[in-house]
Amino acid sequence: MSTASDLIYLDNNATTRVDPAVVEEMLPWLSENYGNPSSGYRFGQKVNAALETARERVAALIGSEPGEVLFTSCGTESTNAAIHSALAMDRDRQHIVTTRVEHSATLKTCELLAKRGHPVTWLGVNSDGQIDLGELERAITDETALVSIMWANNETGVTFPIEKIADIVREKGAVFHTDAVQTVGKIPFALRDMKVNFLSLSGHKLHAPKGVGVLYVNRRLKFTPFLTGGGQEGGRRAGTENTASIIALGKACEIAAQQIAHEATHVKKLRGDFENGILARVEGVRINGDPVNRLPNTTSLAFGGVESEAMLMLLDQRGICCSAGSACTTGQHEPSHVLRAMGYDDTRARGSLRFSFGRFNTPADVARALEIIPEIAEKVRRVAAAA
Ligand SMILES: *Cc1c(COP(=O)(O)O)cnc(C)c1O
Repeated sequence: MSTASDLIYLDNNATTRVDPAVVEEMLPWLSENYGNPSSGYRFGQKVNAALETARERVAALIGSEPGEVLFTSCGTESTNAAIHSALAMDRDRQHIVTTRVEHSATLKTCELLAKRGHPVTWLGVNSDGQIDLGELERAITDETALVSIMWANNETGVTFPIEKIADIVREKGAVFHTDAVQTVGKIPFALRDMKVNFLSLSGHKLHAPKGVGVLYVNRRLKFTPFLTGGGQEGGRRAGTENTASIIALGKACEIAAQQIAHEATHVKKLRGDFENGILARVEGVRINGDPVNRLPNTTSLAFGGVESEAMLMLLDQRGICCSAGSACTTGQHEPSHVLRAMGYDDTRARGSLRFSFGRFNTPADVARALEIIPEIAEKVRRVAAAA
């Protein structure tokens, strides 16, 4: 077992380290400032004011009004809430359009809705991981309640042309939700310039703690709450707020807004050096997905002739954290649904690993990974060839 100090964390799409400045911001709200933000006395109202500052900080990062920011418990809840609300808008519009490469938060929810009788259209992707915009346009009908399409894929980093997609959906009169959990903090954008109705983000992918998220709800949209009960969040999301984590998320968004350009350059350089290093040192490696339209921090690599599960185990022993598919599917030996949707055969899908870089990675991490990974790949190939 490696110690934390020699850990090489290359799995920033699974979760990120909480930024020390975020921890510091959060601590008083876990200790002395424990008031309930819904209480009318000053001890509660002080907490409420801090929540509103957090809301403003999130809004500044995503280019929305603070009133369009709804705090939730995670990215998954945000996505569920968006889908639920869109289906509650009009009884005659119960059709959903989504893609085959979504995160399980959307995928499993839509599968469940399909079982309950909602018609669902699943858009496929090409070998670059891109959807066909003509097919999207044709899929939307007068009965379509919602189009839910992720902005950036968590496994491959491939980004969809979300502005164009939002325009198409608006033109056809349906509601549009995008899962931007992997986008926020990595790609700058302003929702006020876009035709997006709902957007989901998650704290822990952005150097805030786990268990806090945001659903952006465009102010012109009629919203039906997913969680009902108390009047928190302006009656749009019941349940006492996770105050410390929300305040932490606000701080994380403030830092992201300040550092986004610098950070994108930093992680892109690390990703590029890593990718080129692997391609130069290990034979038969291919990049999965569109190499141009993708996040700056992610690379999904197909190592020919290896089982990624075997690689993961040996890499873990050497302190390298990365993943095969998404964290949510680890433990199942199913090949990634994303790579399969891209038309890759099971061998390619099962031999693929995702490496995702972040704010706290260094060139030394890349150098160390480039020593270890080729050695492990060769070892796994030797064992496979002997079997
Ligand atoms: C992590 C992730 C989610 C889920 O967010 P949670 O806060 O963990 O529920 C949803 N979509 C994408 C693309 C993700 O990467």
